[in-house]
Amino acid sequence: MAAKGEGGFTETGPVEVIGVNSCGGCPGKQVYARAMEMKKRGAEKIVFASCIFKGSPSSLEYPCPFAGKLKKLVEEKAQIGTIDWTH
Ligand code: SF4
Repeated sequence: MAAKGEGGFTETGPVEVIGVNSCGGCPGKQVYARAMEMKKRGAEKIVFASCIFKGSPSSLEYPCPFAGKLKKLVEEKAQIGTIDWTH
């Protein structure tokens, strides 16, 4: 999807994925530190996995309860743009 600019990447067009990371566990303990490290390594945007905002796959039935806070940390504190989901 990322390489083809599909799904959540339609707004950016084709992109290169330079890394994959986790939040570090509830309630997003490492989000800021990891976002800053990814920024240092050249990340221009942080793309949230689809489970975080959409609660997908549908078998999960719920999104991350801290999704809004994670986004705020990345965008406002780490100063990196985000995309809410991949597919
Ligand atoms: S529920 Fe949210 S804060 Fe908790 S581990 Fe999953 S993504 Fe991180």
